[in-house]
Amino acid sequence: MTPCGPRFDHMADEYMVAMDDVQKWFGDLHVLQDINLHVTPGEVVVVIGPSGSGKSTLCRAINRLEPIDEGTIAIDGDKLPEEGKQLAQLRADVGMVFQSFNLFAHKTVLENVTLGPIKVRKKSKSDAEKRAMELLTRVGVENQANKYPAQLSGGQQQRVAIARALAMDPKVMLFDEPTSALDPEMIKEVLDTMVALAEGGMTMIVVTHEMGFARTAAHRVVFMADGQIVEENTPQEFFDNPTSDRAKDFLAKIL
Ligand code: ADP
Ligand code: MG
Repeated sequence: MTPCGPRFDHMADEYMVAMDDVQKWFGDLHVLQDINLHVTPGEVVVVIGPSGSGKSTLCRAINRLEPIDEGTIAIDGDKLPEEGKQLAQLRADVGMVFQSFNLFAHKTVLENVTLGPIKVRKKSKSDAEKRAMELLTRVGVENQANKYPAQLSGGQQQRVAIARALAMDPKVMLFDEPTSALDPEMIKEVLDTMVALAEGGMTMIVVTHEMGFARTAAHRVVFMADGQIVEENTPQEFFDNPTSDRAKDFLAKIL
């Protein structure tokens, strides 16, 4: 499938994420079928599709939380190795924010954000704390730094999770339905944080059904169904003129 728009016509060797001919099975289930996805630096790609279509597996494959069976995935030109120290390094380049916030319950907000930089990036405690406070300020939860996750709202926890991922200085951020576990009044504060990140030039792959976010922040929408990328286009073209029957059916249900 040809990527669309002027952003995708060049820089073939400079993809931040390059998935080529990726195949993955869960037993008999061909969950990722010949996935080719190329994301340029600073690009924001929204992935949408029905439940069970393989969106989470795609995200997890990108940082090797799930091994793939065939094909290659490269981050900033480096192919992901199967295991070992190099894998840990590459994985640190890929920040991930999940539906459930996955904060360490027995660590404070500040400790949650400084742990990775101290352990993996070998930063000093004071440098890590300084940077953590900058990031917590950026996502608007600096006043919560010494609290425990359970003392925060869901929206605040998810913003801490974003700060924690950013603290590793990732090259790309993956978001897997980051607002779908949130109460409605908290969705906007998390989406606003993500929009600001996108405007700051972060490369992002975002699984979400938040069409407002897709229209505002995405350069490209990728529609998945049954393990395949069925259609991809600019948000405006995709939402206004979907071409495949599956995308039309899906949009009719959610819009
Ligand atoms: P989505 O995120 O689009 O809802 P997933 O990637 O979570 O889809 O799942 C795609 C398909 O793979 C689903 O049918 C799901 O049941 C199946 N699946 C996901 N994880 C596993 C697993 N660890 N073992 C077996 N099947 C799985
Ligand atoms: Mg999912």
